[in-house]
Amino acid sequence: MTERSEEMKRILENFNWPSTSNNKPPLGTSSHNVSTNPPPNVDPPIVGEKMDEEVKKLLLQREAEVDKAFKDYRLQRDLLDIYCDDIDRLFLFTALTLNMSFSYNDYEDSFTNLHVYLHNIQRANPHSYTYIKTDVMDRFELCFVAIRCVINAFIGCMLPVIFISSVGIRGEYLNTMFVAVAIDGNNNTTPIAFGVGVANSVNSCTWFLMRLKDAIGAGTEVALITNMGDTIASCIGQVFPDAYHGYSCNSVLNYCRLRIGQSRNLDYLFFRVCKAYTTQDFKQTFSKLSHGAQEVLHNIGHMKWARAYFPNIRWNVLNINIPEFLMVLSVSQRNVPIITLIDAIVQYIQQTFAERCVMGGMLSTVFTPYAEMVLQRRMQKSRQWKATKIPPEIPSMLPSDIFQVFDFKRTCVVDLNRHTCSCGKWRSLGIACGHALAAARYTNNTELADMVQIYYRGDVFRTTYQTRNVNVVPPPSEWEIPEPLSIVLIPM
Ligand SMILES: [Zn+2]
Repeated sequence: MTERSEEMKRILENFNWPSTSNNKPPLGTSSHNVSTNPPPNVDPPIVGEKMDEEVKKLLLQREAEVDKAFKDYRLQRDLLDIYCDDIDRLFLFTALTLNMSFSYNDYEDSFTNLHVYLHNIQRANPHSYTYIKTDVMDRFELCFVAIRCVINAFIGCMLPVIFISSVGIRGEYLNTMFVAVAIDGNNNTTPIAFGVGVANSVNSCTWFLMRLKDAIGAGTEVALITNMGDTIASCIGQVFPDAYHGYSCNSVLNYCRLRIGQSRNLDYLFFRVCKAYTTQDFKQTFSKLSHGAQEVLHNIGHMKWARAYFPNIRWNVLNINIPEFLMVLSVSQRNVPIITLIDAIVQYIQQTFAERCVMGGMLSTVFTPYAEMVLQRRMQKSRQWKATKIPPEIPSMLPSDIFQVFDFKRTCVVDLNRHTCSCGKWRSLGIACGHALAAARYTNNTELADMVQIYYRGDVFRTTYQTRNVNVVPPPSEWEIPEPLSIVLIPM
């Protein structure tokens, strides 16, 4: 064992395991059966507005634990190479750190009981969307889970953008996890639906997308983002024929590298082109890319990856990352029962909502911390910028809302009435740019509520999380058996 691995082992041994768990697994033992551990205690679901100070304190402590877990997880990821036989310990480690319970024990038996478990998700979270896909022999192929209140939070309060990805997992039968992730007004990622299945095939992807469409409603206008090259990308058009479908910018860069090889300045120029706010800035930098890169990117279609060409529905979203916890599950899952895997994700979503509920309760600002930060930065930067009013072409008694703002580099035209600025930033992010703030200062308007999209408001953030509780599923001893009972067989 190398010196580095010894060091990692020492870190792992010294990690401060949560006090609720007394079943720290011994190092160096290859424990493949996580089910032998008794479930640690799990806090009951948090009730929104009635949360008292004690509960808040507890959750804040837990938040610190989660931060620590993820910090150490990065070290853990390096550990994967060293303890390759010990991968499921990482799952155990993460789940315990997040105070998660293991609700189900037997790997093969968990397929048979999947219907019962999903029925109990429905009991805990009425009207949620749970489906199982089987083959003609009733053998398990794929399942889909979306908690009703999470979907409602997405439709009512989050940006209408969903990143959908498939993630490979390691298991005797299970090989793929599908995840649909959205972002809220504080730029937090939230998984809104997920699936676990045996294959990342066109058939599975199409089925997952159809269930997602059932959950969000066929009439909901959304922008869908996928990675280029993901099988699921090729199925979007069939299930969502009218929706905007773009690619995550990182995956476009990867594709470009694969096609033309890594060339000098490719990454730098690509991100400058990709992040340009106006078509003019886009064209200027695009011409500096190599001929090969220009051709590849042109063939993809600018609207799919370049911010200057995004339709309104995509907002400012270049990439959405899959929450790290799900990535941990994907690398660590090995013969973890499917019910345990799904339950861990449901508990993760429950904790995410509970923690953000506490955060919402403590918000005293008009906007979310993310929007406040952007506004502060833009206000600071535009403090000295000069705004002048442009008189209307047709004389009118009404005050003009159009301004020219000089920012010491260029002059931009702001229309306060239409919420636009020629720099492109206001429309793209939905938060007033420095030019707009300078123009508002000129008119002595200190009221910013109108200049920021509703998604970024503190009260919307609070409502999103305080009025909705994701409930965890009770332990198996309390499960209700549905009637008629359908049995799912173990996959091929
Ligand atoms: Zn501007």
